[in-house]
Amino acid sequence: MSGSLIDGKAIAARVRAGVAGEAEAFQREVGRSPGLATVLVGEDPASAIYVGAKQRACLEVGMVPFDRRLPAQASFEQVAEELERLNADAAVDGILLQLPVPEPLDGPALTAMIDPNKDVDGLTPVNVGLLSLGRPGLRPCTPAGVMELLADTGAQLEGAEAVVVGRSNLFGKPMSQLLLAANATVTVCHSRTRDLAEVCARADILIAAVGRPRLIGKDFVKPGAVVIDVGMNRLTPEQAGNSSGLVGDVDFAAVEPIASAITPVPGGVGPMTIALLLRNTLQAARRQEDAASPASHEGSAA
Ligand code: NAP
Repeated sequence: MSGSLIDGKAIAARVRAGVAGEAEAFQREVGRSPGLATVLVGEDPASAIYVGAKQRACLEVGMVPFDRRLPAQASFEQVAEELERLNADAAVDGILLQLPVPEPLDGPALTAMIDPNKDVDGLTPVNVGLLSLGRPGLRPCTPAGVMELLADTGAQLEGAEAVVVGRSNLFGKPMSQLLLAANATVTVCHSRTRDLAEVCARADILIAAVGRPRLIGKDFVKPGAVVIDVGMNRLTPEQAGNSSGLVGDVDFAAVEPIASAITPVPGGVGPMTIALLLRNTLQAARRQEDAASPASHEGSAA
């Protein structure tokens, strides 16, 4: 058996095309296009690349990007004021604070200031709570993107053993909640998990988000499992040789022959994150228009 490749680029392109069509319909109905604001504090080169990609993606689907940049020395109050301005701006439907913010700024405290209805990263306490309660809300983009990949693969989630390696607020925890909501039996592993390989080898669906290059080897994978590799680890130029220099948390060459389906790195989970950010922006825009219309009595988060 050789695992079929889950083509994140192609699936993300389909999501983006769908969003572009809906953004056009929104513009026709409402008279404006959905707006997404990115807030970048400091000059971290990787963060600047991510923000640039989000701005471009926004334009490509016919949304309006708002690019807000503050110096690395910006105070908490200055960043908070920028977020408050965007919260109050009716042309802005989604706000994304690029993380991490420079020390000593408190990223979680700043994130919590974003209006939950505009929280397209799904990371404010309100949206985290809504996810935990199983109620509608804006979901974090990368785990939501993984759900899209699993749906496209036709993976049976109901009753399946799903193992998530990593328990971060950004990915592992929301991923486990989404799988639970889809009726999988979910185990979450972390750095203190005893016998990681043994736990992972139970999984029908194995999702790795650790940040350790090629940690997940053949012995961690049950034959026929669906394997999703969220890890994005940069190799040094010497290690990279002729490759892209980006490797996942899964030893792809060892695992691909026994998995039923597997994501590559790059080209698997990565492209889904921006696609889902755009979809979340559209969802936020629709909810805000509905809330603003006189007929609406809704007051809760999108
Ligand atoms: P993180 O906050 O550093 O969390 C890593 C998690 O892995 C922690 O829960 C940690 O356990 C666990 N861990 C560390 N070493 C371990 C080990 N040897 N065995 C088992 N568990 C271990 O990272 P993150 O933000 O979730 O990101 C994880 C990876 O996904 C990174 O490579 C990141 O670049 C990538 N990522 C990619 C995307 C994308 O768009 N493709 C988005 C988000 C993240 P403890 O909690 O016990 O410390």
